[in-house]
Amino acid sequence: MNRDAAQLHAEHEALIQFLYLAPIGLVQADIDGAISMLNPIAAQLLMPLSRDGGLDNLFQALESVAPDLRNLCARYGHASGKVCDGLHVHLNAGGAGRRIPQILSVTLLKLDAGRLMAVIGDITEQVRRERQLRQSDAWLNAILAGITDYALAGLDAQGRIVDWNASIGRVTGFGADAAGQPYSIFYPDDAMTPEHLLDRLREADDNGWTLDEGRRRRADGSYFWGSAMIAPLPDRDPLPGHEAAGAAYCLILRDISDKREASERRRRETFGDYLTGLANRRAFFEAAEQELARSRAAPRPTAVIVIDADHFKAINDRHGHPGGDAVLQHLAAILGDTFRAVDVVARIGGEEFAVLLPSTDLARAAVVAERLRAAVASQPARFDGARIGYTVSAGVAAASDGALGVDVLLKHADQALYAAKRAGRNRVERWRPELAPAATEAGPFDAA
Ligand code: GH3
Ligand code: MG
Ligand code: MG
Repeated sequence: MNRDAAQLHAEHEALIQFLYLAPIGLVQADIDGAISMLNPIAAQLLMPLSRDGGLDNLFQALESVAPDLRNLCARYGHASGKVCDGLHVHLNAGGAGRRIPQILSVTLLKLDAGRLMAVIGDITEQVRRERQLRQSDAWLNAILAGITDYALAGLDAQGRIVDWNASIGRVTGFGADAAGQPYSIFYPDDAMTPEHLLDRLREADDNGWTLDEGRRRRADGSYFWGSAMIAPLPDRDPLPGHEAAGAAYCLILRDISDKREASERRRRETFGDYLTGLANRRAFFEAAEQELARSRAAPRPTAVIVIDADHFKAINDRHGHPGGDAVLQHLAAILGDTFRAVDVVARIGGEEFAVLLPSTDLARAAVVAERLRAAVASQPARFDGARIGYTVSAGVAAASDGALGVDVLLKHADQALYAAKRAGRNRVERWRPELAPAATEAGPFDAA
């Protein structure tokens, strides 16, 4: 070797060494995902996803948690560049007694026609901190943005309104008629369950305060965009002059309609699906984790419905990809009409949707899923002057008290969906233990 070649070789070695030791997961793969190199961190992060102890293919390893990655890559039109940037991938999403939910960030680079490089990091802690920041941010906003008009109400230990200031009339149109009513009268009809109402009080107890932002309702049934903060009163002794009332919390309600656009745009960018306007996969997991954690603290059932369009490939083949997109938008609209505001309706894959139903058991969720199926079957989508009839299949699963993690609940709903497909499609199936493939029932760690 001459001197230049030797130096090049040494630099190459140093680079390889650096990649190997880099504090972030690196995977090199061919365009079909076949892995040619991965460093120890990548192996550590991806290993829990391997079914058979091997790590041969990147897409296969990530199939169950990022089902769209392969498609995303296939559809990527450029010769090289970023296929996706910091995609959030949720692992072992929060089962009771299991490891805490872990979130990976995946950036996929197309190096050239034949090669991919994935950069994978564990961002669990970062996401947790961001979530906290978002809340403090909203709180600071509420304080700094000049509280010119707000309604103040005292709530009793059950969240019933026991006293209020005059501004409650200006902000909400309610007056003395609010007395004794739960504070959910300020929310749209189906935006809050009785359990959520109590959750917020418990959150205020635990954290000192709780704040949410969204659609609020006035006495005349009209809506405004508002923030609602609840804080426990310092000591539970009644306020002077309010001895009879027994207020335990105060509720501060503000009309922030002027800030709605900016805050909604931020939400849409992070948690929205661009095609349908529904929540995206990331929003679904965040909401589901939160709901299941709450349902562990205050036991109640939670249901998940997974919905998949039937023979969707044929629709794409007959009407083109834009026709398929129109069907997905049509389906999203029916989903929006069918479910309550408190339900989380999300697009979690190409033509696959999931709905989280708080405080809902299996039987009830199956009834709603059936209503959805029937609605879809009776209303064709329209595209380019044509009527496109289509159907959906759905799988329903539920957990009685937060005992299952999001991932298990979704897996059960998926198994039920698979049963619905097998039974001929345009059907709803409920999960039952017989639907679980025998092989996955006892993992290596379950053996006595
Ligand atoms: P099945 O009844 O078994 O669900 O049949 P299917 O044809 O729906 O099966 P499959 O899940 O294999 O096909 C899904 C198709 O959806 C393949 C993919 O090209 C298409 N697809 C995925 N994302 C989109 C999208 O955003 N827009 C459109 N138009 N098509 C999509
Ligand atoms: Mg399908
Ligand atoms: Mg599908």
